[in-house]
Amino acid sequence: MSAPGPGGVGTPRVEWRAAWTPAEGADRARAGFAAAFGGEPAGVWAAPGRVNVIGEHTDYNAGLCLPVALAHRTYVALRPRPDGVVRLVSAQEPTAWEGRLADVGPGTVQGWAAYAVGVAWALRGAGLDVPGFDAAVDSCVPYGAGLSSSAALEGAFAVALDDVVGAGLGAHDAGRARLVAACRRAENEIAGAPTGGLDQTAALRSVPGHALALDFRDGSVRPVPARLGEHALLVVDTRAPHRNADGQYAARRAACEDAARRLGLPSLREVTDLDAALDRLAADGAPPETGRRVRHVVTENARVTRAVALLAEDRVAELGPVLTAGHASLRDDYEVSCPELDVAVDAAVAAGALGARMVGGGFGGSALALVRREDVAAVAEGVGAAFAAAGFGTPALLVAEPSGPGGRVEPAGPVADAAGGAR
Ligand code: ADP
Ligand code: MG
Repeated sequence: MSAPGPGGVGTPRVEWRAAWTPAEGADRARAGFAAAFGGEPAGVWAAPGRVNVIGEHTDYNAGLCLPVALAHRTYVALRPRPDGVVRLVSAQEPTAWEGRLADVGPGTVQGWAAYAVGVAWALRGAGLDVPGFDAAVDSCVPYGAGLSSSAALEGAFAVALDDVVGAGLGAHDAGRARLVAACRRAENEIAGAPTGGLDQTAALRSVPGHALALDFRDGSVRPVPARLGEHALLVVDTRAPHRNADGQYAARRAACEDAARRLGLPSLREVTDLDAALDRLAADGAPPETGRRVRHVVTENARVTRAVALLAEDRVAELGPVLTAGHASLRDDYEVSCPELDVAVDAAVAAGALGARMVGGGFGGSALALVRREDVAAVAEGVGAAFAAAGFGTPALLVAEPSGPGGRVEPAGPVADAAGGAR
């Protein structure tokens, strides 16, 4: 199946993943709710997926990264219940979930529901009086593509539950930081995925038209204007299965920790002289690949700093070479790319992209290309043709429009009326 891409141009060799409008997302979630539970929800809430412009494998090295939230969102229609029971359905999952909120804890929930009910558990832990609820999910955020569908799901539940209990955390950035912490606990402790706070921060603290500069050393989050103008951020989901990504991730992390220990530093963020650090690691007998891992992390932080400066100065086109250099570093020094990602990057650049790189942890997932808007169709065609020639499956493409954070979609007025005193 091929759908027309931006500008109505279609190519049979790629699929397009358009973002739903908020009204479309809300309609879908409400229809799912009516089919599963009957009647009307108290409201519909949504939170975005994200793509990381630059700054990969830096989060666990006290480093820097620069995500943008997508217009692609996960929608949840939710109605509180007075009896402490939770019932969940998702249009993306065949299996519904039902249980008592009081029984939720680490190890008690399997599958996708852990992300959703985990947020309710974590918000209770944070002191919110979260009731039981019925909820229906629908989403246009692709799974496992490095676009953080899990944080979009968590973020949608976080803003929904915050709203129905009237806690008001979503009304200010400090409150949103608390929602981020709850989502992260849900993912770490209930879903059992050891992720940092990048994804949840992008889902809940982004600013429309901006990227977010995240610093994992001091925890700061700074919006940076992303005035893309005639440029577009084109995401290519390779749909390659992640091959042994977990083991490789653990090995990279361990190598970075080993290097910091050998250098006598709290983290690789403290490396100020890369060449001196590499000499010292070699003299200390560190394996050769450890030096390459360090070189990636240190140069990647410098690329984030450069990208932030370029965005601030509206020099968007110059981001291209920064992205491409980032890809070379992930491919050659960090060694986390794969054939599909390399083909996507090379084909995008050959077809006119200003630069491109793999995004996410690696070994599958998506690539990101900076493309002049007028060249989007040509780059899509080039990537599609290269995938066909290589014998890969059809890639799925979307355009990342820097978007705002999670929040309520419906109703427009106070949710209290619709919640009908069920709090
Ligand atoms: P991603 O990079 O997309 O975040 P993850 O493996 O972290 O990949 O999260 C994907 C998982 O999150 C899915 O397997 C599913 O359990 C859950 N999930 C994400 N979106 C939805 C959704 N719309 N409905 C149900 N579960 C979802
Ligand atoms: Mg995830």
